Amino acid sequence: MIDFQKVQEELEGSIEAIKDLSQLQQLKAKYLGKNGLITQAIARIREVPPEERKEYGLRVNRLKEFAEELFKKKEEELKALEIEKRLSQEWIDLSVPLETELGSLHPITQTMKRIRDIFVSMGFSVMEGPEIELEEYNFDMLNIPKEHPAREMQDTFYVNKEGYLLRTHTSPVQIRTMLSQKPPIYIMAPGKVYRRDDDPTHSPMFHQVEGLAVDRDISFGHMKYTIETFLKEFFEVDVPVRFRASYFPFTEPSAEVDIGCVICGGSGCRVCKGSGWLEVMGCGMVHPQVLKNCQIDPEEYQGFAFGMGVERLAMLYFGIDNIKLFYENNLRFLKQF
Ligand SMILES: [Zn+2]
Repeated sequence: MIDFQKVQEELEGSIEAIKDLSQLQQLKAKYLGKNGLITQAIARIREVPPEERKEYGLRVNRLKEFAEELFKKKEEELKALEIEKRLSQEWIDLSVPLETELGSLHPITQTMKRIRDIFVSMGFSVMEGPEIELEEYNFDMLNIPKEHPAREMQDTFYVNKEGYLLRTHTSPVQIRTMLSQKPPIYIMAPGKVYRRDDDPTHSPMFHQVEGLAVDRDISFGHMKYTIETFLKEFFEVDVPVRFRASYFPFTEPSAEVDIGCVICGGSGCRVCKGSGWLEVMGCGMVHPQVLKNCQIDPEEYQGFAFGMGVERLAMLYFGIDNIKLFYENNLRFLKQF
């Protein structure tokens, strides 16, 4: 028959040496499985002579309970160990320094922000308009007649819908503003514009900032003061500024604005082509017809408008000679700003 004491001691010894759950499973089968030692001992209860059967039954059941309890305890112990092991392997070191590199604002974004901040400090508010614009707002209402060269295919990107185009300047925002607001109007409109132009100083997409002031008794002097103040703030030096008579269909009179060359200080260099002057923006008094187109009475109100290329100003401010550098996303270039 079975030696209860010996089986119990062997079981205790074997279970002590178990290191993981699969070993434990195997040992459990050896004792409590279908053909296990203890299972078999229980099955043999009928073979025991009747006078010993009661005693045998008690001892074999006690052994079974003892074994079950032992396996249960060992299983819990191994599971706890396993969790502890996994936790220690998955430990995250919160003290490791972060080596993520911080990005920086693109030089064009920085320049736009500086331009905007200067005009906002002078009382202008920011307006935006769509990049896919009505031909009517981009040309007609700005007094740009049908036969004007700017309308020709080599300059303008037309879209696949009659009457729409990619705006060639931010000036249609003037029209949108004057149609939706009554004077006094003091706005600036930054944004992307598109032209079929591509060389080291021109890109088919570039950024402009437009300014518009409409109020009573507005004169050329107000415009001159506003632009001069802006340019001195922007270039952070007391740059000489001059206004040269020019022509734009939507302003009368119109002027180009030059600053003394910030590269050579006016003595003449490659950037200013030896002239000592750099052209930085266009401006003028809003043409009476443009005011009328927007239901504003030119007898009562006058206005001035100006527009500048953001890339042009950024190139002069940072001393960059190729506009393409702004769009190549070369980190070594961009990180310098
Ligand atoms: Zn120069």
